Amino acid sequence: MSMLSVENIRLSYQTVAGETHAIKDISFSVEEGEFIGIVGPSGCGKSTLLSCIAGLTQPTGGRVVLDGKNVDGVSENIGYMLQTDNLLPWRSIYRNVLLGLEIQKKLNEETKAYAAELLKKYDLWDFRDSYPSALSGGMRQRVSLIRTLAVKPRLLLLDEAFSALDYQTRMNVSRDVYRILRSENKTMLMVTHDIPEAVSMSDRVMVLSQRPAVIASVVKCDFGRRRDPVAVRNNPRFQLYFDKVWKEMSR
Ligand code: ADP
Ligand code: MG
Repeated sequence: MSMLSVENIRLSYQTVAGETHAIKDISFSVEEGEFIGIVGPSGCGKSTLLSCIAGLTQPTGGRVVLDGKNVDGVSENIGYMLQTDNLLPWRSIYRNVLLGLEIQKKLNEETKAYAAELLKKYDLWDFRDSYPSALSGGMRQRVSLIRTLAVKPRLLLLDEAFSALDYQTRMNVSRDVYRILRSENKTMLMVTHDIPEAVSMSDRVMVLSQRPAVIASVVKCDFGRRRDPVAVRNNPRFQLYFDKVWKEMSR
């Protein structure tokens, strides 16, 4: 059984201006441990798709199944990372990392120890008493990821999570995030408009069509799991996968 299965999802938004068909008929499944990239033209329905998977939006038709259960609300097994790090400026790094646990009423010695372990493992322990303003954009995004991981989600959804970062930071953060999610054995779905980012970090890239979105194509990015998403950009196959995705997007 696949970890996640998206079955014939469709979604229309009703507004005063009329109806917007965001997603038409999307089906795919994801195996445990897979990293999936999702690219497509701006406004085609990528965020809508993630939101349906996260259980934040109820699709108009079809269903999302996670670990054999219908998703019909926000699931604790799913972590969401957005473009902004959403750290609270008045809380220290450590207390920011504990926030999700507090909200879910899971703060105890064991969960605190796990949060501390993540901070140590990913080189942020020395900054635990600092405030977000003292950290670089890349470090803040890493803190944000650790906060998401502290509640132990199995599936991570990233929506343009690196878009606010400058080019070099973005490369480094994508490498960090890749390494962290692989080493914690997570499964990931990542929406991005950056094709190289999608190709360098994903086992498969799904290309969505213009709105209403359907899956136009799926490109397998066969670099193995122990890859370095920055170094892989020099792999001869990188250009091949890039071209495939690009061609599908330019139709
Ligand atoms: P993407 O993330 O691919 O840029 P979105 O999923 O955000 O696209 O949006 C898909 C389409 O649905 C767009 O045309 C957008 O304007 C519309 N849309 C998104 N959210 C809403 C909403 N809450 N109400 C009405 N229309 C929406
Ligand atoms: Mg979006």
